[in-house]
Amino acid sequence: MPEQLVTVKEVFINNNCPECFSKEGLHLTFKQKFIDTRFYKSIGKDIFTEMHCTICETPIYPQRWTEDIERVYRYQNKALTPEKPSTQLKKLSWILVGLVIGIIITSIVLTLYLRV
Ligand SMILES: [Zn+2]
Repeated sequence: MPEQLVTVKEVFINNNCPECFSKEGLHLTFKQKFIDTRFYKSIGKDIFTEMHCTICETPIYPQRWTEDIERVYRYQNKALTPEKPSTQLKKLSWILVGLVIGIIITSIVLTLYLRV
């Protein structure tokens, strides 16, 4: 799969689950999008957040977050150091770029040569 969400940070937080009210189950995950194709590798700037309760096995969507959860989330989000967004060309791309430049140069040289 060329595109995937990679976990950059995960923490258990000390808040009550809005579903089962357990204080030990809330698990918060931060993910970032990584794209890995044959031509390039790229890290997206967007951070995706997932929360679920390990006690009642329920995903906790932001609409269900309490103010306390919100606060902890903001704190954790601030403390997060995500991977720098970037795009890197791979060898195959460089070979293609080289080929295209080669063809352009060759055609310029040929045009000039044939004119004389
Ligand atoms: Zn729960």
